[in-house]
Amino acid sequence: MIKKLIAIAMAAALSVCAFSACSTDNNNTSSSSQNTSSGNVQPQKAVQSADNYRNFYQIFVNSFCDSNDDSVGDIPGIISKLDYLNDGDPEKGDDIGIDGIWLTPIAKSSSYHKYDVEDYCSIDPNFGTMEDFEKLIAECNKRGINVITDLVVNHSSNKHEWFVKACEEVKQGNFDGYAKYYHIVKEEDKTTGYRLIEGTNYYYEANFSDTMPELNLSNPDVRAEIKKIMKFWFDKGVSGFRLDAIKYYDTGGDDGKDFCKWISDTAHELKKDSYIVGENWSGTGQISDWYSTGIDSQFNFPMSSAIGDYVTTVRTGNVKKLYTTMQSWQKNIRSKNKNAIDSPFLSNHDMVRSAAYLVKNLENEKLAAMLYMLSPGTPYIYYGEELGILGSDKDNDGTYRLPMPWEGDELDKINVPNIVGITSAEDYVVTTVKDAQKDDNSLLKTYQQIIKLKLQNPEIARGTITKVIETSESYAAGYVTEYDGNKIIVFCNADKTETFSGEISKSDCDYSGIAGQVTARDVTDSEQAKLEGTTITVPPMTAVILR
Ligand code: CA
Ligand code: CA
Repeated sequence: MIKKLIAIAMAAALSVCAFSACSTDNNNTSSSSQNTSSGNVQPQKAVQSADNYRNFYQIFVNSFCDSNDDSVGDIPGIISKLDYLNDGDPEKGDDIGIDGIWLTPIAKSSSYHKYDVEDYCSIDPNFGTMEDFEKLIAECNKRGINVITDLVVNHSSNKHEWFVKACEEVKQGNFDGYAKYYHIVKEEDKTTGYRLIEGTNYYYEANFSDTMPELNLSNPDVRAEIKKIMKFWFDKGVSGFRLDAIKYYDTGGDDGKDFCKWISDTAHELKKDSYIVGENWSGTGQISDWYSTGIDSQFNFPMSSAIGDYVTTVRTGNVKKLYTTMQSWQKNIRSKNKNAIDSPFLSNHDMVRSAAYLVKNLENEKLAAMLYMLSPGTPYIYYGEELGILGSDKDNDGTYRLPMPWEGDELDKINVPNIVGITSAEDYVVTTVKDAQKDDNSLLKTYQQIIKLKLQNPEIARGTITKVIETSESYAAGYVTEYDGNKIIVFCNADKTETFSGEISKSDCDYSGIAGQVTARDVTDSEQAKLEGTTITVPPMTAVILR
């Protein structure tokens, strides 16, 4: 306990404010002489986001929290855990501090993942009621959290009434009604991904599975239906949508960008400040290209996953290369859409858990979190990522979507189909929410610190990178970013063992001192970044904000 108190006192003296509990003390006790001697400046007040630059949290609804012991996660369960996500006070609390939630699909569907929608303007009865959803939105509004829902319109379920009617009409030789909602062709015209309509010689396009017939998105009647669906959810209070599978939007000769432009324009027409993020699981060329549709945001797949830039940087330590890539990527996407918002992340419900390829090493996981969360844009934390949840080494959906370990016994309580290679909680639970909140050295605490730093320094998410600061070492680099007339520097030493010491010129950013820092090392380690004149000393695996 004494050790912990010393650590807190030191953090306060250095104005690091790593602990939310010390934030008020910090303002009162830090004298200006302490500040100048360590090169620190008072951190700014943490302010909740009012725009679309946020820190999002992805909730796979089936697996997050089950409120009524029927083995299915649900909306009342999410409501019961909102204080963990954001308690409404950005300055203090045990909450992570996220201010955006992406809910995977919640509308009626027979599958547990619900990416095959049977009724777009409904809540699946296993997840709760529309009243529950309205309550969720009201509770999120109180806490300053924006909610976006998955909008899965590349395809519907084969049980959706549009498709049921389409098949009936085709059997009657009628191709002018609901058949036009889908891509239905004669046998001789079918290509890969087409499946037989039973009892006919006709085929429908379904790239993912026979339960997911692809909608004809160039049909004005389909667009009118989708507009109604979007309006329905905006009226319920959502801030926007996560668009599923946009690269499959292509319809008969059109690559799908026309529909992407239409849906982006329609979202802004219905709600001016709405926010759309697209799943375009592609390389940089295609993602960049699709920003020309005006879409607000797309997930940054090339920088995610085991082989992406963030994890590669954790392995190599070459943060200079990462920041150079980030600067050119920002320039690239903003040349296609001046308001483009990048969406960095490590993993999602279709990917191996990040802790697995960060070799279950807590410091690596913290450094990865620092790298993607301190990038420009709106990052996404996949539920449980902040606890270092593991999957199995089997490439299998179920293991990407394991129950959130609140107490650690959820594997026995929440049903996730198709789990391979996980037989008990010990196989994937590294720590629980309960334990991580009590542990000052947990990954969760690092996420809290990073988000607080971002709320104190709005330039990190919103700024334009004007310069990459290089040093003699590739593992120590920074970038100058400018927003609303202010320039700050994000500087990182990504090496595992070396302390970096060197000059940071004020010519590109006239900083006053260190406004905050976060480290991947044990928080009880007394070594902190220091600034003397323009000479900065940064311990290993530590990021610093200069302003
Ligand atoms: Ca339930
Ligand atoms: Ca809080």
